[in-house]
Amino acid sequence: MKVAIIGAGIVGASAAYHLSRRADTEVILIDKDQQGKATLAGAGIICPWVSHVENPDWYRLAKEGAKFYPELVRHLEEDGESGTSYKRVGALCVSDRQEELDRIEEAVRAKKGEAPELGEVLRLDAKETRRRFPPLNEELESVFVSGAARIDGRLLREAMVRAAGKNGARIVEGEASLVSDGDRLTGVAAAGEVIDANQVIITAGAWVPDLLEPLGVRVNVQPQRGQILHIDMQDEDTSDWPVILPQSTHYMLAFDDSRVVAGATRETGSGFDYRQTVGGVHEVAGEALRIAPGLSEGTLKEVRIGFRPMGEDSLPLLGKLDEPRQVIVATGLGPSGLTMGPYVGYLAACLAMGEETGMDLSVYHPLRGASVNG
Ligand code: FAD
Repeated sequence: MKVAIIGAGIVGASAAYHLSRRADTEVILIDKDQQGKATLAGAGIICPWVSHVENPDWYRLAKEGAKFYPELVRHLEEDGESGTSYKRVGALCVSDRQEELDRIEEAVRAKKGEAPELGEVLRLDAKETRRRFPPLNEELESVFVSGAARIDGRLLREAMVRAAGKNGARIVEGEASLVSDGDRLTGVAAAGEVIDANQVIITAGAWVPDLLEPLGVRVNVQPQRGQILHIDMQDEDTSDWPVILPQSTHYMLAFDDSRVVAGATRETGSGFDYRQTVGGVHEVAGEALRIAPGLSEGTLKEVRIGFRPMGEDSLPLLGKLDEPRQVIVATGLGPSGLTMGPYVGYLAACLAMGEETGMDLSVYHPLRGASVNG
């Protein structure tokens, strides 16, 4: 079986990695160098149990996505890739309102039976909350969820691509396009050659509609710009600082190198407009300082910009097309792609191999609410 994968973000890298672990599969992973790749800008919070998204089909994938990580990290280590950066640092859901914290605590505890991987749930006073993340506003108390993790999407993506390469996958740099003969897909063109794959997995993030358009297939995916700040906290040891989840779409997390990441804008309708805007930086810095005034002396090192692939609802687009049959689409992971991406990539790999996934995926079908041939 020969499988071509178009797009090496977190979803495509995972699909390629999982296929490369099989002896019976020839894998070709194609990726184009361009600005705004979501995986390279993503914050890296993995904590689906406290999300505001109410949709049970979203939660199912997000929960399985978070649960999938430890095994993935173990497999990568076996393949010589130990630098994924995955770490269970826990998350502090912060608020200055007791009723809000009561509600969060109750909701997370209710999920624990079905999701023991979320770990311990603790109620922390303001002093203990601030001890764990010193820059925080001293008014904030928290609910701590110990199973929450963080990941640097860049490092994980690189680790999976490298491991796939070591397992024999061919990595091609360049823009891919689908080659068809009427309704029939005959191959994938990239870097001056046409690859005649049995199956094609399209994991091109927000760019998926451009790839499918020549086949007359329309999927509802739009780019949503996210701007996110990277702050250097000089000599602070931030390696164990937890993820901070205020009750909004803004958040913070830390990495080993004295770095705090504060995110992010959600700019629906941005198109592929790759720009750092004054309004975007102002919004994110303002929210971050309201929650954590102690960040104000940090050095603003970098503003990353990525285009989240957004479907028309909160659900990913995942499934095999009816026409042409050998195309699998996996995109639309929106703001949760680093949580779900490795698992969704694995599911896409199973679909390519015609294997049972153990999950009813019909609700995620890529053409729900869209049209074929116009
Ligand atoms: P991408 O990473 O965009 O990858 C698509 C790839 O396809 C790219 O490399 C692109 O170059 C390639 N491509 C496109 N067209 C072609 C072509 N024709 N030929 C070849 N290659 C092509 N998620 C979380 O779970 N937790 C978070 O904390 C979090 N924070 C985020 C913060 C920000 C600011 C942003 C922007 C996103 C965040 N996300 C988070 C969401 C997550 O980053 C995305 O959902 C996820 O990275 C999407 O991955 P992808 O592989 O679908 O797309």
